Amino acid sequence: MRTSNIVVLASTNRHKFEEMSVLFKRYPEITLVPVNEYIRNADKIGSVETFDNYSENAAAKARIANHGCHYPCLADDSGIEVEALQGRPGVKSHRYAVAKKGETQDQANNEKLLSELKGNPNRNARFVCHLALVMEGTLLHVEGVLEGTIAEAPRGGTSGFGYDPLFIPKGYTQTLAELGPEEKNKISHRAVAVAHLIEAIQKQEILLAKP
Ligand code: IMP
Repeated sequence: MRTSNIVVLASTNRHKFEEMSVLFKRYPEITLVPVNEYIRNADKIGSVETFDNYSENAAAKARIANHGCHYPCLADDSGIEVEALQGRPGVKSHRYAVAKKGETQDQANNEKLLSELKGNPNRNARFVCHLALVMEGTLLHVEGVLEGTIAEAPRGGTSGFGYDPLFIPKGYTQTLAELGPEEKNKISHRAVAVAHLIEAIQKQEILLAKP
């Protein structure tokens, strides 16, 4: 394995790293590694998410990590866009609600989303995942989308993260949390974005070692 095939994931979100690691197993040319093993103060990376769009946030996270470690760095900025809420919470999906004592951020977010949609028959929503890869002065951008609807109540327990217990992908009757990681990784916005990223890398003939 050439060290040039190491890609650092510029995120300290454990769930994102777990999902991405599984997704990148399909592409053995790349070894995904967690940012906290390569730079100090990695938990500060999220604080550069100051833009109102996924692409600038993802690029900022990837750039700051690349500046710190000089390996190719990949960042994910993602969110859920709800039609009846004019696309909210969108880029602000992570800090959508204020968590009460004893409540997780994800629980607070799901509760707020259900209360904002209460009685609204329009449950259409979509997940968006934007990936930015920064290496040797190059910036690659790709996006993946997963269409679906918001359930009336959380379903699926603790499987997945974020809005997974509320999101029913188009063509399914179960939420992403109920479907579980194997099915989620076949269809998710993140899986689509990773596939686009690999295509873009191959097209540009960068990064991947030639046999
Ligand atoms: P950020 O990209 O760190 O700003 O956070 C994105 C937020 O969007 C997460 O904290 C989740 O709340 C939500 N989100 C993004 N992707 C997913 C997913 O695959 N499932 C559930 N929620 C997600």
